[in-house]
Amino acid sequence: MTPRMIAAADAAKGFLPTQEAAALHHAGLAAGAEGRGPFLEVGAYCGKSSVWLGAAARRSGMVVFSVDHHRGSEENQAGWEWHDHELVDAGTGRMDTLPWWRATVGAAGLEDVVIGVVGDSPTVGTHWGTPLGLLFIDGGHSEECVRADEAAWIRHVASGGLLAIHDVYSDPKDGGRPPYELYRRLLEGGNFVEEQGLGEGSLRVLRERR
Ligand code: SAH
Ligand code: MG
Repeated sequence: MTPRMIAAADAAKGFLPTQEAAALHHAGLAAGAEGRGPFLEVGAYCGKSSVWLGAAARRSGMVVFSVDHHRGSEENQAGWEWHDHELVDAGTGRMDTLPWWRATVGAAGLEDVVIGVVGDSPTVGTHWGTPLGLLFIDGGHSEECVRADEAAWIRHVASGGLLAIHDVYSDPKDGGRPPYELYRRLLEGGNFVEEQGLGEGSLRVLRERR
């Protein structure tokens, strides 16, 4: 992370604590060195994680695909706990984080490395083809969204590749269950093992078993 990238990530709105972003960056450095494939994040919001992943990708000549419809998750909509009225497009009255995401990635100097994919995540995942060296799941957190992302994206993790999941809370009083339940299902399914030393806070990092 250069000072310019740090400044851009710090200026971005979002709910990713810096220590967790740094852990994600370390996972990106590991995946980049292993060279199994590009990185992809599900859930871009205003670009904070895009910058930390992008900085890691740049080090190894990789790229990051950053998928989001930029209309916000359920909990980001007006009337919900995580709503930010500055993110509403005055013309349409709908949320639009794309200009914010673009400003963040541009300010970081990472437009050549971080590639925005604007659309519904399960739809993109259904048509995706390239094995991913690192997949980061941080999209919608409802049961329905997590199940749809699971069905569309998990199969795209390259053999031996890394899978990071955000907002995994083992204690229900800390946060919602679907990301935690996804994490448990993947471990119990036997195709993933926890990667020691890369998790931080609510960020968990798993590795596809070779
Ligand atoms: N990783 C981001 C935070 C992502 S917040 C950061 O570092 O700040 C979750 C994002 O998931 C929101 O921007 C929302 O628009 C997106 N999202 C939710 N459901 C989606 C879907 N079905 N398709 C695409 N994006 C979705
Ligand atoms: Mg999150």
